[in-house]
Amino acid sequence: MSETVLRLREQVATLHSELTRYGLVAWTAGNVSARVPGENLMVIKPSGVSYDDLSPANMIVCDLNGTVVEGDLSPSSDTAAHAYVYRAMPEVGGVVHTHSTYATAWAARGESIPCHLTAQADEFGGEIPVGPFALIGGDDIGKGIVATLSGHRSPAVLMRNHGVFTIGKDAKAAVKAAVMCEDVARTAHLARALGQPLPMAAADVDALYDRYQNVYGQSGKPAGS
Ligand SMILES: [Zn+2]
Repeated sequence: MSETVLRLREQVATLHSELTRYGLVAWTAGNVSARVPGENLMVIKPSGVSYDDLSPANMIVCDLNGTVVEGDLSPSSDTAAHAYVYRAMPEVGGVVHTHSTYATAWAARGESIPCHLTAQADEFGGEIPVGPFALIGGDDIGKGIVATLSGHRSPAVLMRNHGVFTIGKDAKAAVKAAVMCEDVARTAHLARALGQPLPMAAADVDALYDRYQNVYGQSGKPAGS
């Protein structure tokens, strides 16, 4: 095993604990993967293993067609979707999937989350879009993710009647997008329950997004670090 794969096994296993820490997953649902840079490979969660039992050693290494290269267990049942995204979007280094409650409630209604919050403008640059309904297995979920997010600022898509998929330059960025997606989905839900949220001017959303993505944070470090 290469040093890179060992490091990514460790990182992907550890990042799964963020999904439970932020309450984004129930039972064994949800998964994180990372592309192995420069290789036709990814590291992904095994299927049906308790979050408490995830470790670097039981992460699965697959090629970008979803075929297992290293690992004794079956890979996540969402492996085909992750693999499709990596094949279609070379800039993506990490993918996360959850059924986090509030975001998935928006997905159940097939409604994108309008941008009424500065935090959403920062992270998502506007609305969080809805993707098509797609059955698991085959490439339909992957195609829906790529079709919705290609050319979109949002790193998160609400797959209709299903849940959240997020992308990032690496797995940590995709996990952050999943955490922030649920956070803004919850606030947007509460704001809607209280009445009609106030609109934000498109120019303000653009300015917030630009500042957060390009200026915010420690100088020389990625946004939000
Ligand atoms: Zn799912």
